[in-house]
Amino acid sequence: MRKISCVLSLLLLTAFISNAQVPTPKEHFGFNIGDNYMLATYTQTEAYVKKVAATSDRAKYVDIGKTEEGRSQFMMIITSPENQKKLDRYKEISRKLAHAENLTDQEARTLAAEGKTVVWIDGGLHATEVVGAHQLIEIIYQLTTRKDAETMRILNDVIILCTHANPDGQELVSNWYMRNPTPERRTTNQLPRLYEKYAGHDNNRDFYMMNLRETQNINNQLYIEWLPQIMYNHHQTGPPGTVVAGAPYRDPFNYVFDPMIVTSLDALGAAQSNRLNAEGKPGYTEKSGSNYSTWYNGGLRTTTYFHNMVGLLTEIIGSPTPSDIPLVPQRLIPSSANTFPILPQKWYFRNSIDYSVSLNYAVLDYASRHHDELLYNMYKMGRNSIDRGSKDYWSLSPKRIAEIEQLNRAAQTATGANANAAGGGRPGGGGGGVQMKFYDSVLKNPENRDARGYILSADQPDFPTAVKFMNALIRTGVLVHKASAPFTVAGKSYPAGSYVVKTNQAFRPHVMDLFEPQDHPNDFLYPGGPPVAPYDAAGWTLAYTMGVKFDRVLDAFDGPFERIPYGELQSAKANAVAAAGAGYILNAQANSSFVATNDLLKEGIEVYRVTEALAGTNASIGSFFVPASAKAKTVIEKTAADLGLQVSTIAKRPTAVKKIAPARIALWDTYGGSMSSGWVRFIMEQYHFPIEVVYPRDIDTGGLRDKYDVIVFVEGAIPAPPSALPGGRGFGGGGNFGGGNNDNVPEEFRRMLGRITPEKSIPQLKKFIEEGGNVVTIGSSTNLAYHLGVPVSNALVEMVNGVQQRLPGEKFYVPGSVLRISLDSTDQAAWGMGSLADVYFDASPVFNISPEANSKGTVKPIAWFPNNKPLRSGWAWGQAYLQDGVAAFVANIGQGKLYAFGPEITFRAQTHGTFKLLFNELYASAAMPAGKTK
Ligand SMILES: [Zn+2]
Repeated sequence: MRKISCVLSLLLLTAFISNAQVPTPKEHFGFNIGDNYMLATYTQTEAYVKKVAATSDRAKYVDIGKTEEGRSQFMMIITSPENQKKLDRYKEISRKLAHAENLTDQEARTLAAEGKTVVWIDGGLHATEVVGAHQLIEIIYQLTTRKDAETMRILNDVIILCTHANPDGQELVSNWYMRNPTPERRTTNQLPRLYEKYAGHDNNRDFYMMNLRETQNINNQLYIEWLPQIMYNHHQTGPPGTVVAGAPYRDPFNYVFDPMIVTSLDALGAAQSNRLNAEGKPGYTEKSGSNYSTWYNGGLRTTTYFHNMVGLLTEIIGSPTPSDIPLVPQRLIPSSANTFPILPQKWYFRNSIDYSVSLNYAVLDYASRHHDELLYNMYKMGRNSIDRGSKDYWSLSPKRIAEIEQLNRAAQTATGANANAAGGGRPGGGGGGVQMKFYDSVLKNPENRDARGYILSADQPDFPTAVKFMNALIRTGVLVHKASAPFTVAGKSYPAGSYVVKTNQAFRPHVMDLFEPQDHPNDFLYPGGPPVAPYDAAGWTLAYTMGVKFDRVLDAFDGPFERIPYGELQSAKANAVAAAGAGYILNAQANSSFVATNDLLKEGIEVYRVTEALAGTNASIGSFFVPASAKAKTVIEKTAADLGLQVSTIAKRPTAVKKIAPARIALWDTYGGSMSSGWVRFIMEQYHFPIEVVYPRDIDTGGLRDKYDVIVFVEGAIPAPPSALPGGRGFGGGGNFGGGNNDNVPEEFRRMLGRITPEKSIPQLKKFIEEGGNVVTIGSSTNLAYHLGVPVSNALVEMVNGVQQRLPGEKFYVPGSVLRISLDSTDQAAWGMGSLADVYFDASPVFNISPEANSKGTVKPIAWFPNNKPLRSGWAWGQAYLQDGVAAFVANIGQGKLYAFGPEITFRAQTHGTFKLLFNELYASAAMPAGKTK
């Protein structure tokens, strides 16, 4: 013991000497973190953490990459000076245990004993939740300066990655708040734009897709570099009458991840709530006390579960402007979800900072005391995954259990025993109830086995998009193989260059989750009652929404597969462009054909769309024909090289073609920023469509046809007309800040104010279309059809006492899920799509077209639900109501067209499989009155 205290005093002494220079936040910022009415900008914060790194031997500053607005995103690695010298070794141990490859149990235990727990703590992801970034500053300060025994122990056992999750957002929000010289009038409300350039709040829905640079930077640290055992993601705000909501979370949890995730969340949640209680800090709520679950993949916290990491989320109250804990009587009854109720009182920013420090310390203390266990458990979960993927394995899910119950019921009916069962009495067959043979016929059925792996053939029509999907897996640390030669599996041949993703790997849960359907349980408040909304999506299978073609392989398989090193991004093979005869054909099935087309049009090169199927090629109707020229070849070669676009040549000019021109495209947005619009803006940049963002006042001003050929309205832009029964979640939509007090809004942002109104905007849109403009509407903005009197109606209604009403949630409920539609791919809007597609549906509108309009062709269906079981992934209660409903249509109005897409065809820039449904509308053609292009 003497020896230990000696070492400790030495540590304390070193700490004292080396940290003498770390400036306090007050010295640097001019105020304490948590002072009323004071927020720090990112610029100030970045300067501070650099000073801390320069003066503390406990801290290392790492620039993890640039943000979308070009700032450097930081991660501070904080641990003891001794550990700082051996970071590479500890990182190696963390990685080895996480991957769980080629290790014996004993080797894993030895590594776990040597290693240090790696704990991720972030802040600032949702920039208006200002406690996040500020607790990060405070914890960096405290961990680099405190000398108490607990801190010293933590620094010895734990490597802490303090990471800023959204620098651009903090800069925007803090400047916005601080701009008012009167402290009492400062507010984070009424921000003019999104606090992440494209995604705003949806920056926390990007973690399996990684469209955004911030997400890429973060995931590179989480899944390629460090593989932390615990990650802690700070948010706001706690439910009224509480201070903070945290782990453990309510059901359902996702069935594909390891059960130790759930029990570890119990342990860490208990560590956090217990510490607050011990410190006399009431107001923690957990489980049913908040609506956070562990179902969704794609959040900064939740994606970690699919990688065997314990992901913590807290949602805390508080703001630099003092607030109140309101009186919520039910919250004052102690329960396991609210163990220590907080009484109504005044609440200050500093309270929230202190709570956050306690919550961080609870996690760090646990990580210190259980460091070998945490490291070993991550190995164990990885090992479990490898084992499950190495043998015949049947995952449990509600669908399978329902099959067993269904077989049992059928048998009872056949033997006349159903009377018992129906009456809720003891089921037939004796005490246990259900007979084992039904279990065997479902959960031992070879066809129901989990896949051993997935093969993505290199000869699929949109291979570059398949490669994007592979990169999404690779960026989160999934192990991917690539075939170096042609091979055959289960009787099917694949070319060299095809990708293989096997499930016998540590991050099997993530692989399963992105290739297989989510089977969300039927979750109702009570039997027969209303549905309980999932925290976010119910289903999202990325391979489906990206339109990637793949084969599931149920038996062990092998081939000439080369292992891609972890994190090594792929690019589709640069395709050589052959010398053309008459010209080039760019297949409309490939999204990257639109990039090449836009680049060609920008250069003033002629491009045509082929309006009939081309004999002797695999190119679909709607493919692009580019007459041979040296200039065209140069542009096409660039896309072929950069994006792996496959280009074919054609000897003879196709006869049925239609010349296209660049369209003048307007995209609706609103003051404060629409996330849906931001994501489309992102897609437009990625696919090289030049666009102009317009606001409601620009619409109301009129003269639209002189300026634009196409206007795009995403979810939430167009409000419902009062007299209609429209569908969709956003039926009351219409954007932000239409009426309220806008005195706070600086002059430069006022042009963004206002909303689309039936009085001023709709007549201008009507005129625009009548004069030959096209309008594309998505989600609730399909409301425009009702405003314009298009003969369509909501398909999801029923008659109640002779009155038509929307179907209630007890009968029909489809939260964010993937559904299958049929398409008329001979229609221009669906060119390149094929006859079936998976769409993202989020309580989306569904239509009936009046028989007369249908027969006259004035309204034409583009996509519809062909049967009573369209669910592909997620939850679709009462899905039979969808049968024959129209998902998308085009209406002819005057000289122009209104396109209506109920489902979210551009959802979060993830649904690559349906982007073409938008792209196809974004060209002007000779059939339209020529407008000047710019
Ligand atoms: Zn948040």
